[in-house]
Formats: sequence, structure tokens, C-alpha cells
Amino acid sequence: MKSSSFEYHAPKTLDDAVALLARHAEEEARVLAGGQTMVPAMAMRLARPGHLIDINAIPGLDQISLTDHAMRIGACVRHAALGATAAPGPFGRLLGLLQHHIAHLPIRTRGTFCGSLANADAASEWCLLMVALDGRIEARSTAGTRMIDAEDFLLGYMTTALAPEEMIVAAHLPTLPPGTRVGFHEFARRAGDFAQSMAIATYAVAQGRITAPRIAIGGVVSRARRCPEAEALLHGATPDPALFQEAARQAATHAPLVEEDPYLRSLTETSVLRALTGAA
Ligand SMILES: Cc1cc2nc3c(=O)[nH]c(=O)nc-3n(C[C@H](O)[C@H](O)[C@H](O)COP(=O)(O)OP(=O)(O)OC[C@H]3O[C@@H](n4cnc5c(N)ncnc54)[C@H](O)[C@@H]3O)c2cc1C
Repeated sequence: MKSSSFEYHAPKTLDDAVALLARHAEEEARVLAGGQTMVPAMAMRLARPGHLIDINAIPGLDQISLTDHAMRIGACVRHAALGATAAPGPFGRLLGLLQHHIAHLPIRTRGTFCGSLANADAASEWCLLMVALDGRIEARSTAGTRMIDAEDFLLGYMTTALAPEEMIVAAHLPTLPPGTRVGFHEFARRAGDFAQSMAIATYAVAQGRITAPRIAIGGVVSRARRCPEAEALLHGATPDPALFQEAARQAATHAPLVEEDPYLRSLTETSVLRALTGAA
């Protein structure tokens, strides 16, 4: 199939891009970033935007900036730019663990980090990372810029808090202190497919006890989410296999699955257990 007709815009500045979004918001104006989801959706006529606003010619959106404590990822930064070498230490290791699970190389070289956030697939690795690390989204419209916590941004399956006249300019992630242990596990039917179930686990160990545990799950739930019961169990405890098994059981028991299914609950438990074990 071919897409329905639309008007193509290639603004050269952010001001022009948000002005176009505001002007055409009523006619389903949509941002085009990597096009890896948008273009197939248009070809299948699942999406019929009246105006496509291609942000790839706007200077600076392809920039990553890194300080000691945070990374800012511009709206045109591709998945492929966010491998293990993008940052030192445990944060870079975690990026590397996640990145190669995203689709296939051609998609990773075009698709963008922020496009994945805007698309808000329940099985998006970057949405999971944003929730796990308390990332923030920088959204811009003609009214100005606002920062949105990832927890408040992801509302549900493919649903975000972004207004029709807003675009994501960048994503902000805190990095992880040296010594943080990081793990990730994903179940997908085939390499490159979206995850059926996935989990991130990070924590530090001080005087033999777990501090700052973070566990987040995706794929089996309508949006990436943290597992507070499992985190509470881990906090202050001595890391050992029985503790990890119980934390994984807690995470799976309390997960609001997309459907009640023992198989999905079992996948969730095993994803969390393997993420925790990988971190150890
Ligand atoms: C075969 C296949 C397998 C895939 N597997 C995975 C996978 O395993 N994991 C995964 O996470 N993804 C996967 N993807 C999706 C891929 O990661 C896309 O790159 C990503 O979801 C969208 O990014 P994009 O830059 O291509 O966005 P686009 O396709 O350009 O846009 C997608 C949507 O986001 C909106 N959008 C994009 N950027 C912005 C912005 N800056 N501000 C506001 N709105 C914006 C668009 O308007 C559109 O609605 C897969 C895709 C395919 C085709």
C-alpha cells in the first residue's frame, strides 16, 4: 500500500518546527525523526498525518552531551550512537546491554532514542531505561519548554503526555555512580523482535549490603514500570541467590500484566532474576 497524501515540511530551526506543529495541530501534524515506525505505519495507513514535519535538518538535534552526572540526548540521536562507548562506567555498560536488543542494525542506524519515547511502545528498551533511571523529557512548543518526568510522560500503551503541538527536543538521563552493578535481560521470540518481557536491575553494594536498588520491567505491562516491592526487599539486604529469587517473585507477583497469564508472570520473574544475577 501507499501512504495517504500529506504535506512534507523540513524546517531548519526548532522555532519553525514548533510553529508548524502549532499551525497544523488540527490536521494531524506529526514529527518525522528516524521514520522507522512512522513510515511503515503510513505505508499501512495505520497513520494518516496531514503534515509531516521532518526534524532532521535542524542543527544540533543529533548531539549527545555528557557531564559527570547526566546525559542529554538530542531528538535526532540514533539508537546506534548509544552503545557502550557512549559513556564510561556502569551507565555506558547499561546502554550497551540494551542497545543491541533494539531491532536490527539498519533500524538502529536510523531510528532515534527520542522517537522511541514518543512512540511509547510497551516493549521499548529506551522507555524502560528512562523509567529505571528516572529520566526526564524536554518538550517544546510555541509556548516554551517543559520538563516531564518519564513516569508522568508514559501514560500507557503507545500513549504519552505530549500535547499535539509539542515535540521532544531531548531526553535527559542521570548517569550511574562508579561501582553500580547493572543487569538487563530480555525475552524475544527472535533476535531483533520487540521484547515479550524485559527487565533492568541496578544496585550498589556498601559494607556487604545492597543500596539504591532499581528494578524496572517492560513488555508484559502496558508501559515500563518500576517494581517497588522488589526494590524494598533488596534495599539493605545481603545479595545472595535466594534474595534475588524472592525479589524476582515479588516483582512478578505485583506486576500489572497486560493480561493475566501464568506464562507472562513466569517470563517476568525470570527476566528480573536474570537481570539481578547479571548485575551481580
Ligand atoms: C522491524 C522493527 C523492529 C523494531 N524493534 C524494536 C525493538 O526491539 N525495540 C524498540 O524499542 N524499537 C523497535 N523498533 C522501533 C524503532 O526503534 C523505531 O526507531 C522507534 O520506535 C521510533 O523512532 P524513530 O526515530 O524511527 O521515529 P519515527 O518513526 O520518525 O516516529 C515515530 C513516532 O514518534 C513521533 N516522534 C518521533 N520523534 C519525535 C519527537 N522528537 N517529538 C515528538 N514526536 C516524535 C512521530 O511523530 C511518530 O508518531 C522496531 C521497528 C521495526 C520496523
